[in-house]
Amino acid sequence: MRRAIATVSMAGSLLEKLEAAASVGFEGIELFEADLTYFPGKPEEVAARARDLGLAIVALQPFRDAEGLSAEERSRMLDRLERKLDLLARLDTHLLLVCSQTRPDTVGDPDRLAEDLRLIAERVAARGARVGYEALAWGRHVNDWRQAWDLVRRADHPALGLVLDTFHMLIKRSPLAPLREVSPDKIFLVQTADAPAITMDPLFWSRHYRCFPGQGELDVESVLRELFAIGWDGWLSHEIFSDDFRSTSARQAAVDGMRSFLFLEERLGRPSLPARPHARGVGFVEFVEASERAQAFRDSLRALGLLRTHRHRSKNVELYRAGDVAIVLNLEDEGFPHAFQLLHGLSVAAIAIETDSAQKAKQRAEALGATPFVSPVGAGELIIPAVRGVAGSLLFFLDPPRPGATFHEIDFVPDPDPSGAPDIGLTKVDHLAQVVPPAELASWVLFYRALLGLEPEHRTDLVDPRGPIVSRALKSTDGAVRIVLNSSPSQTSGAGRFLARTAGAGAQHVAIACRDLLAAARQIPNELKLPIPENYYVDLEARFGLEPAFIEDLRSAGVLYDRIGHGEFLHLYTRSMNGFFFELLERRGGYDRYGEANTPVRLAAQAELDRSPAEELTRMRGR
Ligand code: MG
Ligand code: MG
Repeated sequence: MRRAIATVSMAGSLLEKLEAAASVGFEGIELFEADLTYFPGKPEEVAARARDLGLAIVALQPFRDAEGLSAEERSRMLDRLERKLDLLARLDTHLLLVCSQTRPDTVGDPDRLAEDLRLIAERVAARGARVGYEALAWGRHVNDWRQAWDLVRRADHPALGLVLDTFHMLIKRSPLAPLREVSPDKIFLVQTADAPAITMDPLFWSRHYRCFPGQGELDVESVLRELFAIGWDGWLSHEIFSDDFRSTSARQAAVDGMRSFLFLEERLGRPSLPARPHARGVGFVEFVEASERAQAFRDSLRALGLLRTHRHRSKNVELYRAGDVAIVLNLEDEGFPHAFQLLHGLSVAAIAIETDSAQKAKQRAEALGATPFVSPVGAGELIIPAVRGVAGSLLFFLDPPRPGATFHEIDFVPDPDPSGAPDIGLTKVDHLAQVVPPAELASWVLFYRALLGLEPEHRTDLVDPRGPIVSRALKSTDGAVRIVLNSSPSQTSGAGRFLARTAGAGAQHVAIACRDLLAAARQIPNELKLPIPENYYVDLEARFGLEPAFIEDLRSAGVLYDRIGHGEFLHLYTRSMNGFFFELLERRGGYDRYGEANTPVRLAAQAELDRSPAEELTRMRGR
């Protein structure tokens, strides 16, 4: 199989799209005619540029409104076809894509449709080209790939074949087994697209919600498995119509598209990627803050039972630990951490994932098109492999800890004056929540999924009193690494205010697991906790029928509660610091969620503290 991408899948000008596709290693593009219509030069220039970049123009598409017309309209259609075939020749392209008729005032008789396709195929063949017929899921008479195949067989012309599109096939739930009866050389092109599993009008779903395979929830692999089983080995082309991709760069869509193919091929047992690392947990979270403002954050860490145990050998960097939790506080006034702090204020500039092999993780990340990052290190200090993550922050990869050789034993020295934080029973980082712009959500889902094997869940729609938030949680098979991605189209929602306040910093909260949350909560000063309305506890009692004494324990400790089956979840939030907050939690009885039921309470309480989010936003914009 050869990898191509349709120009409609990328934003930008046609030449930008060609360059982006070539830069990440695509061998071909599928030219969407509108891209050519808006191109200010000649078709020959597009052909020459594609050739220079090593890109084949796999097909020109779409030719619409082709079959089932009245005699008069058919004759006009054939004139129109001749003009497209002129274009095909000027582009040095040999495949025209015809999609199935959508007009209600057309004929649906299969013999007549086959006759039309045969007529088209004869004209196309006369020019030395081929035509591929695609069933649109909303086609008037032909809306299933099996009907398209039936017509191709009836028309029986060597220049006529099928174009298959995984989106149409999967949303229609068309049976795939009949693919085994299709001759592989009659499948001229296979278009790949995924989508979220939602129910809506197929045309609207297709135009606005397609995404690259691996970003959505359709079983794209099932189609390709059948095709490989019959020995098909032709062009695969991502065809993604998406509002989100149109708001990012051509380069980003091309990177995502190639990442999607590499991940898909691996899942199909044709890997060309370095093996996937095993994500064992969160090694550390690195915060940046201006040193003159750092005391407030230090105080918060101490109040949460995080003890300052080490200082960096050569940098103004402190390490706070409790259980397996490690928080790095970087107060440097130069280099990447400083730049990140100037832009975002107090924020998470890096997260480190502990893997079975840091080198392996880095190689895979780079093969997947992630941007490598090299930090300056002092003599004898550890070089920790890193790539760029969410919001330009860093994602470090750590090796498994070996006695005497963990990152902090090499780069840090024990603090001569450790802060005296009480042990409140923190155990490990449970999850990280990151806020990304809506247009990037699918991209980051695929990033974590392909790189670390974190499996995404179906989206959750959170109720924020100030605007909607879409959330997608990802976790490793054993739950050791969990990342929650949130995005919101609203600037006044919690996620929107966070992005505005921090100029788009990524991580909004870090959740830390505790041995006994109620005990821990009693040791944390109330001023640090997010205040929870009394009404919440009245509602909680009604919802779950909990013992009054237990409700009182939760209320007095400011702890939230959720229960699913036998699993229970206790958690609390700190007040925000520059939009960032900690969550402390305890999972009981195999509870595997994130307390989403309580998210509206949290969002309302945070909005209350911000008093007027609209006012706040105006203030932040300096108006
Ligand atoms: Mg298509
Ligand atoms: Mg959380």
